[in-house]
Amino acid sequence: MPISRTRRTGAAVVAAIACVSVTACSGGGADDGADYPTENIEVIVPFSAGGPTDTVTRLVADPMGAELGQQMVVQNVEGAGGTIGAGEASRARPDGYTLLLHHIGMSTAPALYENLPYDPQADFAPVGLVAEVPMTIISRNDLGPTTMDELATYIQQNQSTITYANAGVGSASQLCGLLLERALGVDFQEVPYDGAGPAIADVVGGQVDFMCDQTTNTSGQIRGGEVTAYAVTTPERLESLPDLQTTAEAGLPDLELSIWHGLYAPAETPEAVISKLEGALQTALADEAVANSFSDLGATVPAAEDQTPEGLAARLAEQTALWGEVISEPVG
Ligand code: ASP
Repeated sequence: MPISRTRRTGAAVVAAIACVSVTACSGGGADDGADYPTENIEVIVPFSAGGPTDTVTRLVADPMGAELGQQMVVQNVEGAGGTIGAGEASRARPDGYTLLLHHIGMSTAPALYENLPYDPQADFAPVGLVAEVPMTIISRNDLGPTTMDELATYIQQNQSTITYANAGVGSASQLCGLLLERALGVDFQEVPYDGAGPAIADVVGGQVDFMCDQTTNTSGQIRGGEVTAYAVTTPERLESLPDLQTTAEAGLPDLELSIWHGLYAPAETPEAVISKLEGALQTALADEAVANSFSDLGATVPAAEDQTPEGLAARLAEQTALWGEVISEPVG
């Protein structure tokens, strides 16, 4: 029996036990999800608080909770590039009270980890895509280079000493770093953190030299002049950071990356629960305040057909195949 981290209320536990001992739990018992939700819902964010995944999750959690009539409570279960939190969510009881909000790492981890303790496709029931987020290449202000060209040359000349901050193997920042290394033909030193929140804090503080991080985590620091920004990984410039050139403009057309985020429940969560979560997600993403916050942070609300279990399942399958190939490509 999978174990849930959710602290169930006494009444809910009694109801669940009654449902197990009486063979037919008809009339909308806890098992079929008809009454769902009757208590707070925990959403696992597999990275530190204050980082990009945490930010996206908190933006949708409140309006989703309002729609569902219960609070969505964010739990940061960080470490190992998001695989610890995802593993914990995969083992949770499939009752809709423990969810996972994770990003592109769901599709890269199978290629990066030999013994991943969960199967991102088999062990989860997708709810829908939540956000698409570009990345930006940034450095500490006193590093020296001021353009992407200068940064590229600087990295090539100092690859054994320059330090790159990432959020662990399986994170978006690690993936972007890998693509950057390949584009520049270098191998730089990576400093792993439990999330991009603490990572960017050390770039701002000058303890680490540079990183590639999502706009949901860098927009404020770029606008505030706390870091030097070089390029954004989208084909078009962003309305929210119009002066920032694209990686293609900077001569790195292969460094195009959008960090998609999805909401998941453990596999075998009742369909009625998934469908209520899907409806609440769509309501949250239609909220004007959410859309405004997304666009201010450079993020995009996914297309309506992707805000669905089918849309997220298709994205996960397609991206798992893509990154599986790219990551295992021989370098050189
Ligand atoms: N999404 C991670 C975080 O929220 C960062 C990353 O994947 O690079 O910290």
